[in-house]
Amino acid sequence: VPELPEVETVVRSLRQVLPGRRVVAVERKDIPEPSGQTILDVRRYGKFIVIDFPQGMLFIHLGMTGQLTLSADDGKFTRARIVLDEGVLRYDDIRKFGKLFWSAQYPQRGPDPLELAAAEFAALAKARRARIKSLLLDQRFLRGMGNIYTDEALFRARIHPLAQAAGLSRRRLEALHAAIGEVLREAIAAGGSSISDYVNAHGEKGSFQDRHLVYGRAGKPCPSCGETLLRILVAQRGTTFCPHCQKR
Ligand SMILES: [Zn+2]
Repeated sequence: VPELPEVETVVRSLRQVLPGRRVVAVERKDIPEPSGQTILDVRRYGKFIVIDFPQGMLFIHLGMTGQLTLSADDGKFTRARIVLDEGVLRYDDIRKFGKLFWSAQYPQRGPDPLELAAAEFAALAKARRARIKSLLLDQRFLRGMGNIYTDEALFRARIHPLAQAAGLSRRRLEALHAAIGEVLREAIAAGGSSISDYVNAHGEKGSFQDRHLVYGRAGKPCPSCGETLLRILVAQRGTTFCPHCQKR
């Protein structure tokens, strides 16, 4: 499932190609035609890819299995094609949980974890009684975090996923903020994690899945202490953690 690093990777690959390209046609029934408009920029907003036009923004959310690639050939699951004066931007989605829509406004979301200062993060979390993992997954609290990077960051910060946010000390919350930034930056540098369908705009997979310390490793030994990693459900999401290293 694409999270912040995967979306950032797609955005970076598109940004090298799209700005300055003019849209010739959009081959999809339910979004209005931006024909003739020139792409100004490509950015990330949380887990959304944002394509800027002079008259608005096109938001693309990859959902579970969405792929946005620069490819002219149609695939079996192609849902939309944006024909440019040079090339084609194609949206494929097997499970159809992704979204494409035009808007002049941003969807309401919390701050970007990579733009938020440690003290500010700690103050926001201190005010919340939710379990820390549920809070990190809440897009109104932070935009861009998902299951993979939440589990990885909590493990690095040695915080139990069920710990109450308000009950954590400022020092531990600042350590969590540092761990979030670290894991996201490392994942971006590795081109994201390709668990199922995720690829960048050139159709290439990321490699960060090979460096997950806890995500998807339940039943295996903790890379730090050797204790067996456990899997529980938090906010209806499978959560892997080390019962020895991660404390409330
Ligand atoms: Zn451990």
